[in-house]
Amino acid sequence: MRAVRLEDQQIERYSRQIVLPEIGAEGQCRLLEARVAVVGTAPVAGELVAQLVAAGVGAIVAPHDLHGYVDPASAAQVTPLEAITSDDRFDIVALMDVVTPATSVPAATHTVWLADSRIGETPPCAACAARALPPTARCDVELASARASVLAAIMATEIIKRLVGVGTALAGHVLTYDPATADIAVTSVTPDPTCIGCATRPAED
Ligand SMILES: [Zn+2]
Repeated sequence: MRAVRLEDQQIERYSRQIVLPEIGAEGQCRLLEARVAVVGTAPVAGELVAQLVAAGVGAIVAPHDLHGYVDPASAAQVTPLEAITSDDRFDIVALMDVVTPATSVPAATHTVWLADSRIGETPPCAACAARALPPTARCDVELASARASVLAAIMATEIIKRLVGVGTALAGHVLTYDPATADIAVTSVTPDPTCIGCATRPAED
């Protein structure tokens, strides 16, 4: 049984989510218990942090310069990424348009990544996706801001699904969004069996 109980204030705050049958009080408790690390830069990583806070994810670590995206009333949910230690463990790490050696990525059970207008959950990792799929379309400057919002929303959705345990995880597939054509494609990608990035990021507990 879960030790976490929703307080009246939390029930009121997250009521629109709790009434969804696929979330419910149990799902909301899972979100409140969850620990998510966000590694990325504004604007897209900032928008992701704001959405995770709004959804009620209990503990989020993110680069300090993204904390301005968070409502001051919810600031306690977010702590600086810079302050974590090597002993810290997360349920999910969100890697956003960052090329980071695997050793410096916070340890997490699941990795959801954004790279080059693609979103996936390892495996495959972003490097395997880049090898398997053709280059994504260039994004016009006018569309870049809107694209960032869409990608942050999709990423937040995948993270919430994984934390609550609903829907089908992206693992094994890669989602590509092209704002110029409005195409959203989900493509099956087989990870390279020798890929270190995939091997160190298990999809299951
Ligand atoms: Zn890989």
